[in-house]
Amino acid sequence: MHLRDTTEEAAFRAELRTWLAETVPQLPPEPDHADWPARRAYEARWQRMLFDAGYAGINWPVEGGGKGASPGEHLIYLEEASAAHAPEVTVGFVGQMHAGPTLIAEGTPEQKAHHLRGILTGEHVWCQGFSEPEAGSDLASLRTRAVRDGDHYVVTGQKIWTSNASVADYCEMLVRTDPDVPKHKGITWLIMPMDLPGIEVRPLVTAVGSAEFAELFLDEVRIPVENRVGDENDGWRVANVTLSFERGTGFVREMLDTQNLMHDLVTIAQATPKGDGTAWDDPGLRRDLGEIAAELDALWAYTKRNVSAGARGGLPMGSGSAFKLSYASVVSRLGDIALRVLDRASLAMDDIGNQPTADQVRGRLHAFAVSLGGGTSQIQQNIIAERVLGLPRER
Ligand SMILES: Cc1cc2nc3c(=O)[nH]c(=O)nc-3n(C[C@H](O)[C@H](O)[C@H](O)COP(=O)(O)OP(=O)(O)OC[C@H]3O[C@@H](n4cnc5c(N)ncnc54)[C@H](O)[C@@H]3O)c2cc1C
Repeated sequence: MHLRDTTEEAAFRAELRTWLAETVPQLPPEPDHADWPARRAYEARWQRMLFDAGYAGINWPVEGGGKGASPGEHLIYLEEASAAHAPEVTVGFVGQMHAGPTLIAEGTPEQKAHHLRGILTGEHVWCQGFSEPEAGSDLASLRTRAVRDGDHYVVTGQKIWTSNASVADYCEMLVRTDPDVPKHKGITWLIMPMDLPGIEVRPLVTAVGSAEFAELFLDEVRIPVENRVGDENDGWRVANVTLSFERGTGFVREMLDTQNLMHDLVTIAQATPKGDGTAWDDPGLRRDLGEIAAELDALWAYTKRNVSAGARGGLPMGSGSAFKLSYASVVSRLGDIALRVLDRASLAMDDIGNQPTADQVRGRLHAFAVSLGGGTSQIQQNIIAERVLGLPRER
């Protein structure tokens, strides 16, 4: 394991840091959290700047249009982008972390030619239509039905928790093409253009007050067979290819941003009057935040270890689950500490007392989502129990 930059990595870091220092301060203020069309436009502009500077698709292979950076350089990118407070990939997440890498690995030459560049430039936004009302943790139970009719699939059913659906151009979607075989064997992976007739998007508002995801109602949507990725009924294997990208470095940028949030909380505590001094005079608070800081440091070290092991072809079994499980716990406890410090200010979704308190409140509410999205904490515990500790399998 190398925890220090190689000569090439140090040069990459220096060049990137200079570019970020010049570029990020020129960006306009970020749009309102709940204004998804504005967020899409803002992020598309940033993504185009990354593309023009050669930083888009940093960890994508060169043949897919990416930079082909080493895993170490990818981590440097995430670290420097977080330190510079560069915009995070939100609406572009599914395209960059799921659909693009899946098409590179499994797509036809036509699918790659049609889709990859639009993802990298930020022109095209993707959403993920995997979960259904009765198929979340047990995803393979999905029931949205696709019936072959000539050179189309006719798709009818319902998806739920589809992030970014209201602003997406394409949906990576799992459908049931054979209901008469064991559930994992009758699934197919399709690319669904979101402007096809028969698609109704009903936004769902979260506790943060923003419609970040939606329900999709599909009524005889005709999807060309050429939009299938992988073979018919081989979609479960392709879906696992898709999800393997998310469980790699999917939450690392967010974890680094949580470190920034923790440092902001220290500043807020130092400025919050309490008794004869400030909230920061409380040794209990300093101890609790010290523990959080140590755990976030440990997660960063764990990430580097995994990336180093992965580069040698030996990513330890269950490491993505262990990271996600620990991170969900830390971010939730940090949120609880933030509410203690903010006291009554935690009831407002606006900044109070000239301090960035709203981010802390949003962080606490977002922690609930972290423990669910990308596989719940209970499911991560099951994976660790069965595949790492070798405990008996769930029936
Ligand atoms: C912010 C966010 C964004 C999301 N974005 C998307 C998206 O873009 N596209 C998409 O398709 N989905 C998305 N999801 C859905 C997400 O994948 C599901 O919420 C998740 O898989 C859990 O499924 P569920 O909500 O149906 O809960 P369920 O599977 O019904 O689980 C309910 C509870 O039972 C527990 N449980 C279930 N099975 C077991 C078991 N075997 N052992 C122990 N406990 C168990 C769970 O841990 C949970 O606490 C998103 C979710 C969130 C929170």
